[in-house]
Amino acid sequence: MVFMTMQGEKVILMKNFFSSTRNKMLTSSVKGAILQGLAPDGGLYVCEDLGNTTIDLQTLLELTYEEMAPIILSHLLPGFTKEELTTAVHHAYHDTFSSKEVTPVVSVGDDSLLELFHGPTSAFKDIALQMLPQLMSLSLKEEPNKKVMILTATSGDTGKAALCGFQDVDRTGILVFYPKDGTSKVQELQMVTQEGKNTGVCALYGNFDDAQSQVKSFFNSLSKKDFTSPDDVIFSSANSINIGRLAPQVVYYFYSYMQLVKQGKISLSDRVSFCVPTGNFGDILAGYYAKLLGLPVHKLVVASNANHILTDFFKTGVYDKRRPFHKTLSPSMDILISSNLERLLYYMSDKDDVYTGKLMKSLNEEGFYEITPELHNKLKKLFYAGYSSDEDCQQAIKHVYDTYGYVMDPHTAVGYHVMKQYQQEESEYPCILLSTASPYKFSAQVYEAIEGMIPSNDEFELMELLSKKTGTTIPTNLSVLHNKSILHTDIVTKEQIKDYVLSKTEYLLR
Ligand SMILES: *Cc1c(COP(=O)(O)O)cnc(C)c1O
Repeated sequence: MVFMTMQGEKVILMKNFFSSTRNKMLTSSVKGAILQGLAPDGGLYVCEDLGNTTIDLQTLLELTYEEMAPIILSHLLPGFTKEELTTAVHHAYHDTFSSKEVTPVVSVGDDSLLELFHGPTSAFKDIALQMLPQLMSLSLKEEPNKKVMILTATSGDTGKAALCGFQDVDRTGILVFYPKDGTSKVQELQMVTQEGKNTGVCALYGNFDDAQSQVKSFFNSLSKKDFTSPDDVIFSSANSINIGRLAPQVVYYFYSYMQLVKQGKISLSDRVSFCVPTGNFGDILAGYYAKLLGLPVHKLVVASNANHILTDFFKTGVYDKRRPFHKTLSPSMDILISSNLERLLYYMSDKDDVYTGKLMKSLNEEGFYEITPELHNKLKKLFYAGYSSDEDCQQAIKHVYDTYGYVMDPHTAVGYHVMKQYQQEESEYPCILLSTASPYKFSAQVYEAIEGMIPSNDEFELMELLSKKTGTTIPTNLSVLHNKSILHTDIVTKEQIKDYVLSKTEYLLR
């Protein structure tokens, strides 16, 4: 494409390049974008050409997940060959998921639920984090003298899924920081029992925001060159702003649509809505990307909990983070800055980088922004937004269990409640609910919602009780946890973080 800068210069961008949401002049190849994560100006990498080609649905109908994924990904990650993508998909999903289908669609009453939690850590984040290391490895081939060190702060799910994905992947190391008293017992055990010679896990004093800001400040000092770091190491993150983490999530939108066609619930090219329990806006943005690639998406339903900054945004056009933070039963959605929303604003504003940059500046400096009425109207045509209280969430778990015998985790239950609100307003189109976690990661909360009390303090006993009560099976990766050895016991203070990272980096990339 060709466009004019403000100085009147003609700029020619190469096809299929990625650029920053805040400045089209900052470009990168897809592999560079995956290695870097964020663009140098803090923007997110977007592909100019996304949506210029669409996918012929008919050709996908008979394909397995593993066959479908490379086709979808080749439209999202131009720069990888079909062979590279096919091999990466095979490594990521073959024999690593407990369901042959990878992401099965189940019927609950008249509704369809897309189960995204059959991966090696029972979190939906496995789908992206089994692929990202494969994509990083391929990207590293262009940088033969470099290695990648992944640093991530986690409130629970991301850490384990990333550790599991990067374990023993050549020329990569991963170091995860978690808040000492900020994760569930099961989540902590999942991390500190992690095997692999390139994996590190370290507790930090403080809460998740402290952990997150300490990792961010390491990256800041690094980019300001406040200290010397090894020049053969690229420091990166496994955060959901990485395009290599976003793209794999687009696949299951197509896959679930095809399952509905096969189940006879819809005909090919019928429109379908998707309801998505949302935090950082990555999962639901993948649904928007699917629509740009030609999937007949009617509405994308944004489901939030008591931290309903997104519901307010879609209703009013004002994104305002100056509000209290609530701890809820669905902790992975307790978030006030939904980073990936920036990509939606970019595409929906007709790829206006200057406008997107302005909104983000306003958010950083003043804590809020307001979009134009035109943009707001466009968003309202495609998105429906709602939220659930903790009470709504518990009632949804109980109602769905009592009525259909199906056990939902609290995040999925937030989505279920909002989907019911949506269906009262609009019921002509089938709606697929994305189910993002195994109920066994939240056994206490789920048991309490169903039975009205928590009969034990022991997480493993609660898993057993939930299994007995509901006749469902505990995922093996969770039931074996209490027999595993603890391999990571480090804990550091804020002041020690920099030296700790540098010495660990050398050790993990040895
Ligand atoms: C991360 C997560 C979400 C939110 O996904 P986003 O892509 O951040 O919107 C929802 N549910 C669970 C269980 C999660 O771990």
